[in-house]
Amino acid sequence: MTPKSLLILAGDGIGPEVMEQVKRVITWFNAKGKVSFKVEDGLVGGCSYDAHGTPLTDETMQKAMDADAVLLGAVGGPKWDNLPFAAKPERGLLRLRKDMELFANLRPAFVFDALAEASTLKTELVRGLDVMIVRELTGGVYFGEPRGIETLPNGERRGINTQVYTTSEIVRIAEVAFELAAKRGKKLHSVEKANVMESGVLWREEVTKLGAAKHPDIKLEHMYADNCAMQLVRNPKQFDVIVTDNLFGDLLSDCAAMLTGSLGMLPSASLGAADASGKRRALYEPVHGSAPDIAGQGIANPLACLLSFAMCLRYSFNMAAEADQLETAIKAVLDSGKRTADIMQPGATKVSTSGMGDAVLAALGA
Ligand code: NAD
Repeated sequence: MTPKSLLILAGDGIGPEVMEQVKRVITWFNAKGKVSFKVEDGLVGGCSYDAHGTPLTDETMQKAMDADAVLLGAVGGPKWDNLPFAAKPERGLLRLRKDMELFANLRPAFVFDALAEASTLKTELVRGLDVMIVRELTGGVYFGEPRGIETLPNGERRGINTQVYTTSEIVRIAEVAFELAAKRGKKLHSVEKANVMESGVLWREEVTKLGAAKHPDIKLEHMYADNCAMQLVRNPKQFDVIVTDNLFGDLLSDCAAMLTGSLGMLPSASLGAADASGKRRALYEPVHGSAPDIAGQGIANPLACLLSFAMCLRYSFNMAAEADQLETAIKAVLDSGKRTADIMQPGATKVSTSGMGDAVLAALGA
């Protein structure tokens, strides 16, 4: 059996605490004997700065390039807030995303039945919710040129950013979304502002063309981004997969995330282009940050990190059965009433970070 190589970059704050529970699950999968993960640890963020004077060394970057998948905890914290821009912990994460060319950001918003009441929306609106937002991550207005702040001849200042997308950038992110939709509910919403932006017109045309040529079995609908924001809080269950650009995806994925109740429950995946063998560079991480306010107390919720590993099983290793197994174990733990502090509800049993890890392992049958 060829081992699958995982680079684990636990990072700062609660990163190592939540990642520890993932390592226990990986050890369990290895012990089952059906799969072999070869795990290597590395530093990213503030801990890397403390050890090496940089938030990510070239050596660790190379290991990330070579690994089958990278699992990341979280980076940052007040200790490093005053470092120069290039040394800040977040630069390590940004370099990983940039050098690995991770252009597709997958942000599922999934509501576990047991937590449906934790949403700020009415329970019936979110119960059973399962939306996947696919955000373009390396193009658009956050990177477009020209950009900057300039002083005009009349002394006024002007800030400039440019929304720019090429056909190949649109087609490759749309292809990821169509493929996901094919494995899910066969429904894709493509979101832009074609009513006021030429880049949106091009986006709509290219997605339509790709759908007709390669994915006629997927029901494709187009929606303006402002309407999508409204629909996400009006009737979120109408969506299956949403594909959108960097800026709109930034906003819409946070909006969809909060439908589910807690930051401690939200996983994500960032994928690069497929090579000749179909393998994509990939990085999996919880949506939450390093939570310095609770770091070191053993109370952080490890489920977002565990669900990120489930995404890794599904998308990097095509291990849908194992991903289902882990997600089902997490669901069973929540149904049994075990909760970390962030998702605590009346009548539930409060558990620590490792207590949640114990419960998930027990539900897996360890
Ligand atoms: P945060 O996500 O770290 O925390 C926000 C709030 O949610 C805090 O009250 C925290 O205690 C709580 N929380 C987050 N994750 C939790 C979990 N797993 N279990 C229980 N509670 C949880 O965001 P922040 O406070 O804005 O940022 C803290 C640091 O993290 C900053 O340095 C920021 O730059 C960094 N950050 C890193 C990432 C990343 O690594 N991808 C993302 C966001 C923020």
